[in-house]
Amino acid sequence: MTAAHYDYIIAGAGASGLSLAYHLVNAGLGDKRILLLDRAPKTQNDRTWCFWEVGESPFESVVFRRWDKVWFHGKGFSECLDIRPYTYKMLRGIDFYRFMQDWLEQQPNITLNYGNIQQIQDSGEGARVVLDGETYRAHWVFSSLYKPTPPRPGFHHLLQHFKGWVIEAAKPVFDPTRATFMDFRVEQQGQTRFTYVLPFDTRRALVEYTVFSPELLKPEEYDAGLRQYISQYLSLSPEPGNRNPEPYKILEQEFGIIPMTDTPFVLQQSPHVLNIGTAGGRTKASTGYTFERIQQQSRRIAQSLRATGQPFSLPSFNRYAWFDSVLLDVLTYHRNPGKEVFSDLFRHNPPQRVLKFLDEQTALAEDWFIMRSVNLPAFARGALEVLRHRLFGPLIGGQRVES
Ligand SMILES: Cc1cc2nc3c(=O)[nH]c(=O)nc-3n(C[C@H](O)[C@H](O)[C@H](O)COP(=O)(O)OP(=O)(O)OC[C@H]3O[C@@H](n4cnc5c(N)ncnc54)[C@H](O)[C@@H]3O)c2cc1C
Repeated sequence: MTAAHYDYIIAGAGASGLSLAYHLVNAGLGDKRILLLDRAPKTQNDRTWCFWEVGESPFESVVFRRWDKVWFHGKGFSECLDIRPYTYKMLRGIDFYRFMQDWLEQQPNITLNYGNIQQIQDSGEGARVVLDGETYRAHWVFSSLYKPTPPRPGFHHLLQHFKGWVIEAAKPVFDPTRATFMDFRVEQQGQTRFTYVLPFDTRRALVEYTVFSPELLKPEEYDAGLRQYISQYLSLSPEPGNRNPEPYKILEQEFGIIPMTDTPFVLQQSPHVLNIGTAGGRTKASTGYTFERIQQQSRRIAQSLRATGQPFSLPSFNRYAWFDSVLLDVLTYHRNPGKEVFSDLFRHNPPQRVLKFLDEQTALAEDWFIMRSVNLPAFARGALEVLRHRLFGPLIGGQRVES
């Protein structure tokens, strides 16, 4: 039996797979035959994406909440930051999946199949994907199937792990016009720990307890962190003698782990197979933000395919990857606590400059101001260590690392 043939197969229909399909059609490639594959339809609100941008997102109609004023609570610095012209946006997974489902139903050339992807392999003029024993072929395959890479000496491997509760308070306590971007007032325990609060209205909010560290916590530690924060900083604790002892209800929960690593990601698995999303190195190593970077990657792939028939040329050296490595080194080896690093950044710079820097859009002069604002000895030490690893380690995968 001959295998079904497509122009593009997108393996994994999560954030990056769905975004890529959307951007391909928007770039004028709607006449191509596209196959999207995933394990099962998305029916759960399995994650919440936050990101900032100037102007509108392609998914603006389903953005759940947006803020242009955000709180930052750090070391010796607490301020409500006006981030305009940026807007900080919250997109719920389920709203994005439903939006994409409705959109896919209107795309005659896109097929969505479900099953377990067992194999992706280059074959001659294209590549083939095996889904539950069935083979599909395409000229290009884009894969977001992510397998954590084993730690490599000389590179940094932190995890961003977090637990969030959507809570409903018994009394109005939230200001829905202001989100809390980072609140470092929680116990740091020798790591980088913060919470963020995304208020939906005066009584409901997503409160997220986040840790940057090499190892996960025990499940009860996230709950304890959330409970403590909600009681201490949101003033939601049972009042003695109150007839309603429950100060809030937990409506939903989410848990996530995002890799924070500068290990080089393989973008092109083989001549006709490209990795996208987290698997394609789109997670920013120093912050874990991925969603906006997925949109940029999807746009770039679509434009390149449209213009040249090739997905994209591989990026050359990027100075921000270097900055990410240095920050990871500073955090990993406790050269300067994360709480102080982020406090210094926001205290000594306009928030717009910090967000632009994290977006990798700053000019060299702006980078200079960012560098001047952090603890110079700690960062100089980190930079030297990263340089040492890159220069004097053995070569693995095009990068020099320690043996
Ligand atoms: C809980 C959570 C919250 C996050 N919040 C943010 C945020 O606020 N801001 C931000 O920028 N980033 C955030 N991220 C990081 C990042 O944006 C998301 O992880 C994003 O979903 C990554 O997109 P992706 O396409 O790479 O992976 P996914 O969205 O996970 O998509 C991969 C798809 O591949 C499918 N798949 C995997 N293996 C197989 C197989 N063998 N067969 C068939 N299908 C398979 C999966 O079912 C999945 O649908 C968050 C991540 C998590 C987990």
